[in-house]
Amino acid sequence: MSFTVHGLAVSQGIAIGHAHLVSHALLEVAHFTISPKHVEAEVARLLEATATVKTELASLKASASTGAAPSEVDAFIGMHIMILQDPMLVDAAANLIRTRRSNAEWAMVQQMEQLVEQFEAIEDAYLRERKADVVQVVERVVKVLLGHPGHLPPKRKDGLGTIVVAHDLSPTDTIGFKDHAVAGFITDAGGPTGHTAIVARSLSIPAVVALRHIRHVVKDDELIIIDGTRGVVIVDPDERVLEEYRLRKAEVELERSKLKRLKSMRAATLDGEEVQILANIELPPDATQAKNVEADGVGLFRTEFLFMSRDTWPDEDEQFEAYKTVVKTMAGRPVTVRTLDVGADKELEGATRPEDNPALGLRAIRYCLAEPKMFLTQLRALLRASHFGKLKILIPMLASSNEIDQTLILLEKAKTQLRERKIKFDEAVPVGGMIEVPAAALCLGAFTKRLQFLSIGTNDLIQYTLAIDRGNEAVAHLYNPLHPAVLRLIHQTIQAGVKAGIPVSVCGEMAGDPDCARLLIGMGLRQFSMHPAQILEVKQAILRADAADLTAKVQRLLKLDDPDRVREAVEKL
Ligand code: PEP
Ligand code: MG
Repeated sequence: MSFTVHGLAVSQGIAIGHAHLVSHALLEVAHFTISPKHVEAEVARLLEATATVKTELASLKASASTGAAPSEVDAFIGMHIMILQDPMLVDAAANLIRTRRSNAEWAMVQQMEQLVEQFEAIEDAYLRERKADVVQVVERVVKVLLGHPGHLPPKRKDGLGTIVVAHDLSPTDTIGFKDHAVAGFITDAGGPTGHTAIVARSLSIPAVVALRHIRHVVKDDELIIIDGTRGVVIVDPDERVLEEYRLRKAEVELERSKLKRLKSMRAATLDGEEVQILANIELPPDATQAKNVEADGVGLFRTEFLFMSRDTWPDEDEQFEAYKTVVKTMAGRPVTVRTLDVGADKELEGATRPEDNPALGLRAIRYCLAEPKMFLTQLRALLRASHFGKLKILIPMLASSNEIDQTLILLEKAKTQLRERKIKFDEAVPVGGMIEVPAAALCLGAFTKRLQFLSIGTNDLIQYTLAIDRGNEAVAHLYNPLHPAVLRLIHQTIQAGVKAGIPVSVCGEMAGDPDCARLLIGMGLRQFSMHPAQILEVKQAILRADAADLTAKVQRLLKLDDPDRVREAVEKL
């Protein structure tokens, strides 16, 4: 019988395929008592399973690090390896086997539940969410203990792919599915910024999450349609619905293949305004993806990902190699590298003190200025890489002129240290600032006088202007990129750049949203930076835009005070 379920649309597109239910190993765990003479053998069985998972994860990480998977996956796998090595997990479970004579699977699940309880008490939403990673690691170990590490069915004869139906998916699951004909993902759990969503988007696979009980209402092999744009899942569709979706899928695919033809075209508006479209990257292998879509350069390299999921910070040489790799991959195109932006939702292992309000705390440049030794190391590595291409340095979360001055003094010091070591670098390396705090957008003179370029971080600018924690689900509905206050700050920043003759880009999520492209062109923006997967769609929107016409319309739109009327006006642009 056909039925429809609604969830959260997290990765666009249409998928038609057969259901493959991924078992929930943790639900199958039995509890039994081990005889005293078998206790040590049971501990050994646990350690062996853990070692197997460690090897699996290490080989997944090795293949992810070579660019075979999105950088988000690489970071998640690193986190899973760390969880597996934490004595609070495996050592504590081994202890349970010894003291309570429990079987290994049960001991792992018991210890997991204890840890999950502790995670639930954490106030920080990002850290609280990490309990899902603990569950996924334990599930992997339990699957090895039970002897069934999930396999996907081979390719079907009818040519349709597999729709993975799961309670939740770990990034390691998702990367494991990569070489199979996986057409889409649907899960009970998850949210727009969860693992399944992030990985599905970066692999361009349609996905709908937060379906609650989908695993219980779908049967293995059943025919399924996923509408990843509307968040709809149709189970066992009738012939008429199936035909309609086949048509829509073909249309979407045609659109996507047409987009590929835009790769080598220069982005310019109908009235000849040239626009630069740059890529946001997180790890060096992402630069290959940026090059493949012929991005005009890298507009934002978020270097904190080099520092995350590890016990020690990368030293100067390791950082230098990473920055040099990106600069060389981009072969003469500009590469804007942002200095470490940690704090708030991006924590370093043991490096930051717990804070009540981390988004307003020791974050980004504030953290770097408080850790000058670490900051100088990064600046030296950046300068050294500047010798190999067109590197620019971008400073995050600036609010006041004295932070810029202190940063420039440290940069001078890093230059002096390199000169003493007789190491070459670009003496005129451009330095820019991110405009993501309202204070910066309201005092732009201090920035345009001291810096060579600006980049607007709309993700944080929206958060700080509207006082909405970008990671808090409870206020997610209030997070509005089209709020007139936000638009005025963006417009003001772009115009200040035009007046001072310095380039301004937007590198937050807004730049990658094709619905915002016309608005930003009308505000005067000529540099966009986004995830490489979004570049062609935004380029298409720019090629269809008339900058002069949009400038006049946007002038009127910026006078509106009511967010709903702004939205209507943007839709009409
Ligand atoms: C932003 O705030 O818009 C931005 C690009 O930085 P991040 O998302 O890394 O904070
Ligand atoms: Mg930011």
